[in-house]
Amino acid sequence: MAPRVVKGGPGLTEYLNATKIAEPLFGDVQKHVLEKAARPSGRRQDVLHPSEMVKSDWCHLAAFHRLRLEVEPAEKSKTTFTRENIFEEGHRTHSKWQRWLTEMGRLAGDWHCLFCDGYFWAEETPEACEYCSAPTSCIEYAEVPLNAHPLLIGGKADGFSPQDSALIEIKTLGLGSLRYERPEFLERYIVETDHGRLPDMTRLWRDFRRPLPAAVRQVQLYMYIANHFEDLPAERTIFFYDFKPTQETKSFTVAYDESFSEPLIEAATAIVDCLQTDTPPFCNLNGRAGCASCLEFKEDDK
Ligand SMILES: [Zn+2]
Ligand SMILES: [Zn+2]
Repeated sequence: MAPRVVKGGPGLTEYLNATKIAEPLFGDVQKHVLEKAARPSGRRQDVLHPSEMVKSDWCHLAAFHRLRLEVEPAEKSKTTFTRENIFEEGHRTHSKWQRWLTEMGRLAGDWHCLFCDGYFWAEETPEACEYCSAPTSCIEYAEVPLNAHPLLIGGKADGFSPQDSALIEIKTLGLGSLRYERPEFLERYIVETDHGRLPDMTRLWRDFRRPLPAAVRQVQLYMYIANHFEDLPAERTIFFYDFKPTQETKSFTVAYDESFSEPLIEAATAIVDCLQTDTPPFCNLNGRAGCASCLEFKEDDK
């Protein structure tokens, strides 16, 4: 059989050109992953996601349009294979820490029975499905749903430890994720070497003493929702960081501070009010002129 010829989208073509890779199977895997990423995610579009709300470029007007039309953000189409690989690595790291905590009986949350497809809350590792009595081997951890229904906020924390009254957040830190999430932090560790400008990863990890600011904003919002809307007493969040280059780990604690999330709660309240009266809010980033996110919807209206 003749080898298959890979017909890729723009992302794949760009990747193959850049790396000069001729192996068809390698190309096929990348095409498969990019095609999967292009499909609708199944992520709820009728709620505000805390991960978006904490971004410095979160536009209230774009959020209003998105909720009204229930559409996915356009950035999904701009993904690359490396980016998808980073996400996948992140999921794997989550599973690893959650499995250890499950084995210890220290993880509370929703549990999903693969046998009957039921979801139920348990304070520790369940021995059987609450609905159909299927054994532990049929049950997977389904994390901690955090919903503020009146404010249309819907999120999920990586875990909750009842013994510690703490939410758990699991993060991976690598060159790839830093390039996307914290380029300015990475830039501080770039040194001139005989092989060009390279990051000093040893020094970077040694100096890494607190979670990234966006991660702190996000868990503060999670804790606010846990305490105010989910009846879950979250006094702090425990972070576990996996450092990809060396597999070293660090842990940090962030204490709950309600005032942190108040501006975001006010913004969500205002957006919900606007939806109820069908009156678009102003763009909070660039006023009447609008910003890149909300202008996208202006085009759609025409
Ligand atoms: Zn079941
Ligand atoms: Zn805007």
